Amino acid sequence: GERRKRRARPSCAFGVFDLQNAAKRGIIRDMGFKHSHSLGQNFLTDKNLLAAIVGDAGVTASDRVIEVGAGQGALTRPLAATGARVTSYEIDSRLEEYLRPLESEYPALEVVMGDFMKAELPGEPYKAVANLPYYITTPVLFRFLDDPDCESVTVMVQKEVAERIIAPPGGKDYGVLSVTTRLVGEPRITRRVPRTMFTPPPNVDSAVVTIVRRPVTLDPRTKALVRAAFAMRRKTLLNCLTAAGYPKPAVLSALSALGLPDAVRGERLSPEEFIKLSKLL
Ligand code: SAM
Repeated sequence: GERRKRRARPSCAFGVFDLQNAAKRGIIRDMGFKHSHSLGQNFLTDKNLLAAIVGDAGVTASDRVIEVGAGQGALTRPLAATGARVTSYEIDSRLEEYLRPLESEYPALEVVMGDFMKAELPGEPYKAVANLPYYITTPVLFRFLDDPDCESVTVMVQKEVAERIIAPPGGKDYGVLSVTTRLVGEPRITRRVPRTMFTPPPNVDSAVVTIVRRPVTLDPRTKALVRAAFAMRRKTLLNCLTAAGYPKPAVLSALSALGLPDAVRGERLSPEEFIKLSKLL
């Protein structure tokens, strides 16, 4: 029984009967490429959507752009076509054959085959634009939020992450990502993107978020405080901070200086209150 079941399953990404449908949707050219799920390879093909993402990022010819995860170059092309100086990172060496030829088409484009997390940042102002591989969304975002040279971040992320980025204080989505984002910039969701827009479609819906960043550096002490404040979601801020080693009397007097009750939870504090608390501590 087990063997029969296995044989019945199609061995390629699309069953035979899906072929026509796939051709219609313009994804037939991907048939030779086996998408890696673990590398987050959900590619975009819709030209209007790709152009809209470049528009959301406000990329112009005078910009420097960093793209994380070039894939087959769907977003790389419209980015490079703006005339901006684009550096695109791609970790999967199988994609080099799609990407390398773009460099001769767009002289201001540089394709770097390798892990973006190990790459050096440009050391000059740039805009980050990407259809992110979802398994490393948070570390990639924090890298850009941490870098004062980053002017803006325009990224496709899964819908739930987008909600966390833009979440106001008080709700269940409000956390380290929301506070850190607001400490350095202003986020907004520029468009919602259903899973069907991707090839292959992921298990989640997505959204494009743009964070316009101020040229400020994140204070490492504020960063550590925010992490400690949200480390245990059901505990009070006082408990979280004392567990992280902040002295209890100092926390109590800082809370009272800010007019906050002793039993306040971290999710009640605005980003500005976290900055003030950090200074007091
Ligand atoms: N930009 C293309 C598009 O929109 O069609 C591809 C986007 S796909 C969601 C993410 C891409 O990131 C994949 O091609 C994957 O191989 C690549 N990737 C995954 N981890 C990476 C890393 N650490 N550094 C650079 N690229 C990575």
